[in-house]
Amino acid sequence: MSRPGVGRSYDVVIAGAGMVGAACAEAAAREGLRVLVVEPDLCGGGATAAGMGHLVVMDDSPAQFELTRYSCARWKERRDEFPEQVEFRETGTIWIAADEDEAVAARKKGDLFRAHGVAAEWLDPPTLAECEPDLAPGFAGGLLVAGDAAIYPPRAAQSLLERAQDRGARVVRDAVVGMKDREVLLRAGGRVPAAACVVASGEAARHWLPELPLGVKKGHLLITDRTAHRVRHQLVELGYSRSAHGDELESVAFNAQPRGTRQILLGSSRQVGVTTRDVDWPILRRMVRRGIRFLPGLATIMATRVWTGLRQSTPDSLPLIGEDARRPGVILATGHEGLGVTTSLGTADLVVSIMLGRAPPIRAEPFRPSRFGSPP
Ligand SMILES: Cc1cc2nc3c(=O)[nH]c(=O)nc-3n(C[C@H](O)[C@H](O)[C@H](O)COP(=O)(O)OP(=O)(O)OC[C@H]3O[C@@H](n4cnc5c(N)ncnc54)[C@H](O)[C@@H]3O)c2cc1C
Repeated sequence: MSRPGVGRSYDVVIAGAGMVGAACAEAAAREGLRVLVVEPDLCGGGATAAGMGHLVVMDDSPAQFELTRYSCARWKERRDEFPEQVEFRETGTIWIAADEDEAVAARKKGDLFRAHGVAAEWLDPPTLAECEPDLAPGFAGGLLVAGDAAIYPPRAAQSLLERAQDRGARVVRDAVVGMKDREVLLRAGGRVPAAACVVASGEAARHWLPELPLGVKKGHLLITDRTAHRVRHQLVELGYSRSAHGDELESVAFNAQPRGTRQILLGSSRQVGVTTRDVDWPILRRMVRRGIRFLPGLATIMATRVWTGLRQSTPDSLPLIGEDARRPGVILATGHEGLGVTTSLGTADLVVSIMLGRAPPIRAEPFRPSRFGSPP
């Protein structure tokens, strides 16, 4: 990373070069804006490096559905712009229904998806077993969402940042500590005149903007050795949403992703408010046991690595995208919880529409930070 002269002025300073910041930088640079990215660490080294890279349409709320559907469509439209190392693979998702109640819910999900142009097909138990022969028997069926995909997130963030740089964006190794009178303040002491500052500093945003309603949900992931076991789609239990957004302080749910290397990436866990990054063996054991219940073959495969990451969450599980009423010029792009890789491209389009005063590509209101009340 080069260090630019801080005497220059910019249209926008982006704080953070994770998936969200890199996407915002690329979108702004594509519009011809003068962009400075400030990143204290590695590009894509935060939550982005810990994530699973599942690009998934989710429907826990109408706003989440709109943002994930729009963003997944953008990934698909733009897939050829990314180098091979981003490993874009249209794995599809199969939402597995454990019993008849879940089957009813899955079919309803399928109706909603199809009504909005998202391909979704109900798989009865024999068809599910044919699609995923290594899945345990006895499930009530599954909903195949064929357009969902998987990527390798840190490389995707790097690729977006490189493309922003190709269009003139500069990157500096430093940290943003505030914005005052249209100047962005850097930790090393510099002040950068800028019309706007996009806060895409992920989990760290809660340190320098402590009044924001941001929390943390720690997650664990495990990757297996290369295996002959067959997992063909991203497999997720239908109860995943309940685990992700329920009231429990600790939960696990089955979520498995086939990698191009014949490894299986296994998730997922959620621990609300836990900020330590060490592996919590009891919850990891619960996560693995859950995995084995769905894919019994996992019991015979070595795990090669486990790690944790912190998802930044908000009280309504929707990101904060929009101007911060307390700080003129500050635009928030944070709090994406477990969907920040998926929704990075949609977030970037929304951020650019705010900066340029254009009509947003989807409804922006549900994501406005002001939904949590106006400043005192
Ligand atoms: C276990 C796990 C699994 C997940 N799986 C998925 C998935 O399958 N699909 C999906 O869509 N999402 C998934 N996510 C969520 C996703 O990874 C995050 O939502 C996303 O990476 C957030 O990106 P970000 O750019 O906001 O944050 P980060 O990637 O954390 O980037 C923030 C950056 O800001 C920098 N920074 C910090 N402080 C400052 C400062 N003061 N100034 C400037 N820069 C600063 C940091 O160094 C960091 O590089 C998962 C997350 C976890 C933890």
